[in-house]
Amino acid sequence: MKVRVAVNGFGTIGKRVADAIARQPDMTLVGVTKTRPSFEAGRAREKGYPLFVAGSADVAEFEKAGLPVAGTLADLLGRVDLVVDAAPDKVGKENRRLYEAAGVKAIFQGGEKADVAEVSFNALGNFAAARGKRFVRVVSCNTTGLARAASVLRPAWGIGRWDATLVRRASDPAESKKGPINGILPTFHLPSHHGPDVRTIFPDLPIATTAVVVPTTLMHVHVNHVRLERAPADVAEVLAAFRRTPRFHLFAPWERVDGTPQVMEYARDRGIGFNDMMENVIWEDGVRLDDRDLYFFQAIHQESIVVPENIDAIRAMLDLAPDAATSIARTDRALGLAPA
Ligand code: NAD
Repeated sequence: MKVRVAVNGFGTIGKRVADAIARQPDMTLVGVTKTRPSFEAGRAREKGYPLFVAGSADVAEFEKAGLPVAGTLADLLGRVDLVVDAAPDKVGKENRRLYEAAGVKAIFQGGEKADVAEVSFNALGNFAAARGKRFVRVVSCNTTGLARAASVLRPAWGIGRWDATLVRRASDPAESKKGPINGILPTFHLPSHHGPDVRTIFPDLPIATTAVVVPTTLMHVHVNHVRLERAPADVAEVLAAFRRTPRFHLFAPWERVDGTPQVMEYARDRGIGFNDMMENVIWEDGVRLDDRDLYFFQAIHQESIVVPENIDAIRAMLDLAPDAATSIARTDRALGLAPA
């Protein structure tokens, strides 16, 4: 029997998670919510996703736009086993009381504080910790990228110290009211909040992060220096470890992927999801080893990297897979990230 799932908040993350749920063989997307009519509400209708209203939405506005509404968020919550909250930062916390009242399990996103849920989640990092839980938070895009890399490096060679500088995109492509459009903005909170956020997955990971915001909408890039506890034989051994781990995509020098523009052009060419890049992107040329000192860049597509993680969180919470590897393989096959 398929589990019944709703998505509350149908924006950048919500619409991607909804599509991903609809593709899973063990899940049914019962409905999505909108707070007002928009092209995205129209797309939900075109895709056949029942549309419910949330927040202070005015049903008459939807009717005027020719968008039939199947009910309210409360109606939707009455029909599902679990809701994925993809509302804007901090709204998830307010929504939690609605989920409590309805008695449904809920997944929150990385814009919420860790205490919104019982556990913070990353599929490679701590799948088992979410098993059977009622409230889980999928960590942010940057934290997901760092947690995935930690899941590769730590078991293989141990991590003595990790310094990462996050070069952050200014806004998502559709956000026309955010900047900067010219300038590099240092984040004066030193070290940045991302290190402690990674420790919600790996409590004892010795990582310190700093961040700058730059005028781009495509991706984030992490500049990493990791002092490993044991030296890998060579760079090839490190690359092989990334390559055999799901949700890592390596680009070879011959592919001529100079930076994030070519990565996202590749994603458009490949056509997965919303032309997304859900994997951590590693440039083979961008990995260097000096004894135990590992240097590497990774690029993170902020709009999509958490999408497969939400799917695995659903499986962990509803006990649909025996372990992380099984769930990740099932998710990635359904999304087209792994061969069918
Ligand atoms: P978004 O603004 O693109 O989408 C949020 C959607 O929720 C909008 O459609 C909005 O109309 C709707 N909404 C507003 N109030 C609501 C309410 N009360 N109930 C239900 N829906 C409501 O935001 P987003 O970028 O998708 O972010 C959602 C969450 O995902 C945030 O916690 C964010 O931090 C996190 N996140 C975002 C990114 C990213 O780069 N966009 C990456 C990782 C995690």
